[in-house]
Amino acid sequence: MIQKLSNKVYMVGGDGSANVVIIVDSKGAIVVDTSLFEEKARKIREFIEGVLKKRIYLVINTHYHPDHCFGNIVFDDVQILSSSLTKKKMSLMDADYLKDLPMIKKPVLPSITFEEDWCDEYLQIAKLGGHTPDSSVVIVRDEKILVAGDLVFNGFHPEIVSDSNLEQWITILEDLRRRHFNWVIPGHGEPMGMVSIDLMVRYLSKIKRLLAGTVTYAEILSDDNFSRREFPELFSWGIENLLSVQRAR
Ligand SMILES: [Zn+2]
Repeated sequence: MIQKLSNKVYMVGGDGSANVVIIVDSKGAIVVDTSLFEEKARKIREFIEGVLKKRIYLVINTHYHPDHCFGNIVFDDVQILSSSLTKKKMSLMDADYLKDLPMIKKPVLPSITFEEDWCDEYLQIAKLGGHTPDSSVVIVRDEKILVAGDLVFNGFHPEIVSDSNLEQWITILEDLRRRHFNWVIPGHGEPMGMVSIDLMVRYLSKIKRLLAGTVTYAEILSDDNFSRREFPELFSWGIENLLSVQRAR
């Protein structure tokens, strides 16, 4: 499903899989994240070139997770931009990492990188961390639209992975909450306003309290902010990831 959020910004997704964002400007089109699937990425490219009649001149990967960068294969003739850490993490994917993933031998790596942030007249990109050490956000400056990558999940339980930093994740979202965005485009789920950042802060803070023993599972299960999110298996998986990191310390 393709949603037009503003004159310049389209979002493909909302079904729980990773969202792909299309930004059009006077130079052409930018694609933020490329999905897990080559076929889906190809259809998105056809839409941009065939329907929007725009030339894609830049692709951005918000982080290294396969559902955000494996569609890069369809854009191997376009400049692909990510943080240098994202590129490094993608380049380290070996046969063992790739064995359960669909038909990808090696991901197409970004061709240009930045260290901490990247800016032009339209976009501001910042590597912030939190969800993964390389998680970046993209801000469409004049439209005040935040492409949050997996720092925000809307309507779905977030993927809390073994390299997530819960403390840092909450701080990043609290900082973003002090700004104003007309749209917050999550990594997964429907686009929403600032409330989706509030809900994520509340979610992650409660997980932190669960680990500290100051809130119970029963209280969490009765909270709408948990019970209404889809993919409940991600909730227990996330807690297990956090506990295994805690045990390893
Ligand atoms: Zn992710």
